[in-house]
Amino acid sequence: MRAVVLDRYGGPEVLAVRDVAEPEPGPHQVVVRMAASGLNRLDVFVRQGLTGPGVRQPRALPHVMGAEGAGTVVAVGPAARTDLAPGDEVMVFSGLSCGSCRFCRRGETSRCPRYAILGEDVWGVQRELVALDPASLLRVPSGMTLTEAAAVPTTFTTAWTMLMTTGRLRMGERLLVVGASGGVSTAAMQLAAQAGAEVWAATRSPDKARYLGGLPYVHEVVDSSAPGWSAQVRERTGGEGVDMVADAVGAPTWPDAIRSLATGGRLVICGATGGDRPEISIRELYQAHRQILGAPFGGWNDFVDVVGLMGRTGIRPLVHATVPMERTGDGHLIIERDEHIGKVVVDLT
Ligand SMILES: [Zn+2]
Repeated sequence: MRAVVLDRYGGPEVLAVRDVAEPEPGPHQVVVRMAASGLNRLDVFVRQGLTGPGVRQPRALPHVMGAEGAGTVVAVGPAARTDLAPGDEVMVFSGLSCGSCRFCRRGETSRCPRYAILGEDVWGVQRELVALDPASLLRVPSGMTLTEAAAVPTTFTTAWTMLMTTGRLRMGERLLVVGASGGVSTAAMQLAAQAGAEVWAATRSPDKARYLGGLPYVHEVVDSSAPGWSAQVRERTGGEGVDMVADAVGAPTWPDAIRSLATGGRLVICGATGGDRPEISIRELYQAHRQILGAPFGGWNDFVDVVGLMGRTGIRPLVHATVPMERTGDGHLIIERDEHIGKVVVDLT
């Protein structure tokens, strides 16, 4: 069966579509024919072989890519504890965990000491068939396409965890999303608006600013290409600042993100795509009762909560582009060049 395979680290050209062995499902597992997989910045880091603090060690090569996706159940093992049946459409959750530690028992699976991510630590979902435990699979809400569903597990779970579980966003609060065009950022804006927050978006791109300004759930757009852009935020909030900043960019945006915060405001972070070593003032943090909160991905509990919400409200991922399996590298380039608003999805059919 075909898969998006990494034989060596490097640029997008190292990704190859070729045959790999079919999965050998255990009696307790479910086999899913994959339809689509959402790309994340994680895919780019895996392809590049990025290492360092907070980044997992390189995996054995060859490696199959893909952290999130959706497809159709084709077989259910005789010992599988599930009500899924062949023909059911499912989303594949990106996190694998032990199932028995105190965090797993609470559903906080991303805190598990044996936590692993599909497509990062083990073979991912960008292949025709995967065999997984039922604990990794959740039914696609009715009315959601498989292309949309493929862009939900990593992206919306991360956004939900940042805002709700970790950030504890409340109705009426002001949220500023920095680098507001990525998959997690656009998901965060949709969820925050649903939760009754006032959504602000910061972007460096005039084109993206125009697009974001036209979204019904975006209240204000901030030009973060301007030096000291937090002054815009403070001025336009009457000097108050915002209650929460969601930042996946990292070092380049942290100083202004912190200065945009109101007294007692929270900076919630889920990544450092732009750099890992910010220069910040400790006094600017504690003197104003500000907090920095880390939210790497999220647990099964968060995934179930956000998919439930999406099923009830009709919130759907913004899909910027869909690329065929053979052009997965082009999808990586769209993300690396920051050309996207929302998600890039690989079609695996
Ligand atoms: Zn565990």
